[in-house]
Amino acid sequence: MAGGPGSYVFGEEEKKELLEVIENGGLFRYGVPGVDGFTHKVASFEKEMADIIGVKHTVATSSGTGSLLCCLAALGIGAGDEVIVPGYTFIASISSIILSNAVPVLAEIDSSLTIDPDKIEELISPATKAIMPVHMLGNPCDMDRIMKIAAKHKLFVIEDCCQAFGASYKGRRLGTYGDISAFSLNVFKTITAGDGGAVATDDDILYERAFGFHDQGHKPSRMGVEVGNRSIVGMNLRMNELTGAVSLAQIRKLDAILARLRTKKIKLKNLLGKLPHAEYRKINDEEGECATLLTLFFDTKDHAEKFCESLGTKPLAYSGWHVYNNMEQILNKATGAKANCPYDCPKYPSQREYKKHMLPQTDGILERAVNISIGVVDKGLGSPFGININSSDVELEEVAAKIKETAANL
Ligand SMILES: *Cc1c(COP(=O)(O)O)cnc(C)c1O
Repeated sequence: MAGGPGSYVFGEEEKKELLEVIENGGLFRYGVPGVDGFTHKVASFEKEMADIIGVKHTVATSSGTGSLLCCLAALGIGAGDEVIVPGYTFIASISSIILSNAVPVLAEIDSSLTIDPDKIEELISPATKAIMPVHMLGNPCDMDRIMKIAAKHKLFVIEDCCQAFGASYKGRRLGTYGDISAFSLNVFKTITAGDGGAVATDDDILYERAFGFHDQGHKPSRMGVEVGNRSIVGMNLRMNELTGAVSLAQIRKLDAILARLRTKKIKLKNLLGKLPHAEYRKINDEEGECATLLTLFFDTKDHAEKFCESLGTKPLAYSGWHVYNNMEQILNKATGAKANCPYDCPKYPSQREYKKHMLPQTDGILERAVNISIGVVDKGLGSPFGININSSDVELEEVAAKIKETAANL
């Protein structure tokens, strides 16, 4: 089985919430409690998520990608605006910027596998409107430095929390640092409803705009179609009550999931000790990270590849989903290539260039990095090998022995 920790602890609680919706029959996110079988699962999920994360507002959506689109639309980011985003991220961080008619400006990552704060300022131009830090593989970005840079240059910050639901940085949950932030509930994330997502913000106006974008411009908690009351052109990115029911059961398990992952990661690391030819990834908040993965850095590309070959996995550089080099649709569209486009492909309205190996520091890091699963078992993320949230101590010991033996024989 592949998936994130939430999918491994799916059970009675999800079933109970789902059955309540099915037995009462209210499948749509809006309604009056108790009338026509409305059991307000989406609204309850939004409220409980806001309480747990520590934000004033959340909007449940149909995906993390949809949530990112809501964030960009809420901030009014559009044609010609530039957004700085790391070149190592899930493709949706970059494509949501393109689909907002804005321009992604690809940034280097550092050895935490998140955006390198030292390499942000050189990318800022008069067109820059926002920075999109991505908390990759459950690890918080260096938010202190990113927020300082953003304040100095008057830029918005959109946190992509899709891979770090529930993680915290210096005692505060991720998603509370930026102006607005996006979460995902797809099956490979910390908690899941199969698909789904959420937007979080403390700002009343951004909330209203994000909400409107996700539901044809309507104000939050609308009752019917409120003509004359819509200020933004939106689309339909709504979550339905079935997804809301599962999301609600899952968010109630969030902290227990994180606690179990953290314990397992510490155990595995203790069993591994110091490995020959490898060190551990830099973590910007050891206690706050999600602990969904354990990332090893090898001294050379060859050692990383040899290690992976023995374990049936691949270094992160080969992830087709998460590395800019492997995103041909981004690189092609950026140069106006017509490969996937029967008509004239629009070029980005900027002089920014996109080409393979344009981020040498990122490439050098990713070719030596290898993911071991703790809670996210995902070939697409480079982590088909490792443990999962339900692994026993015996299984942990077996995996540790295999890793140690493989590293010793490089
Ligand atoms: C998963 C993910 C997304 C998109 O989420 P979906 O729910 O799959 O649309 C966006 N950004 C990052 C970093 C992700 O990992």
